[in-house]
Amino acid sequence: MADYNPPLARKVAVVTGASRGLGAAIALELARRGATTVLVYASPRSDAPIQKLADQIRALPHKPDVHACRTDLSSVHGAKALVSDLSSWRGSDLKIDILVNNAGVERVRPLSEISIEDYETVYNLNVRGPILLTQAVLPHLNANGRIINIGSVGGRAGFKDLSLYCSSKAALEGLTRSWAAELGGNGTTVNCVNPGPVPSEMLGNIPQEIVDMQKATTPIENRLGTAEEIANIVAAIAGSDGSWITGQVISASGGWAMY
Ligand code: NAP
Repeated sequence: MADYNPPLARKVAVVTGASRGLGAAIALELARRGATTVLVYASPRSDAPIQKLADQIRALPHKPDVHACRTDLSSVHGAKALVSDLSSWRGSDLKIDILVNNAGVERVRPLSEISIEDYETVYNLNVRGPILLTQAVLPHLNANGRIINIGSVGGRAGFKDLSLYCSSKAALEGLTRSWAAELGGNGTTVNCVNPGPVPSEMLGNIPQEIVDMQKATTPIENRLGTAEEIANIVAAIAGSDGSWITGQVISASGGWAMY
């Protein structure tokens, strides 16, 4: 059909942590649905995977535009550096429609061993990162914007040795609800998607007994999720179909967590 427009055509989506895992799948799915995507990542080792993903996106049948930006979102200046890079790329009239705060980090530490550095590593990226980036994006966010925070089922679970990570994801749920209340006036929605375990570099560092327990008690097929399944849930609420859902936390875990 020559005049068919994909659902996210003319939308600009910023996806953090797009170099691998969930973020890469989310960026690809948003692009597949027509969005121009911005791939945000942090480490030089991810230059090559990001270029590969950008090539994959450009090769889609509708040839969506894509832009990559390396910036440290755990730093105080990372978000502003990203927006300034995007302004150079799009011109002074930078407009963004979808922000996916996906970049995250975990530290496996018993309470007695948590250091200030561990706290800063986890909280500066998982909590301060979305605050500063959402703040920086806000002046450029179109009406009917979509802010989608990637939390974790850990935000409502008591996983041993993961208190920094679990509490940071609980904080993200709190931010989601308040931002939904603040930003809804022009149709902007703010939601949190909480994945259960999905194979990724991060999951490789989670204690195996936690992952085994989750797998065994997951109602859908006693299995792990896939990055594509999480991406489909994010993409489903990123477009106009998501206009009447805000301030919600969606458990994307095959029913492991039922809210
Ligand atoms: P991952 O494979 O470890 O990927 C993390 C991503 O975050 C990478 O793209 C990384 O970029 C980026 N990143 C790390 N530090 C950064 C920084 N300082 N500034 C900007 N970007 C940074 O993680 P994942 O498993 O895909 O997880 C993605 C999100 O889903 C996280 O928020 C995680 O908490 C959540 N989640 C994951 C699971 C799971 O089972 N996988 C379950 C629940 C929730 P570089 O490549 O440049 O380092």
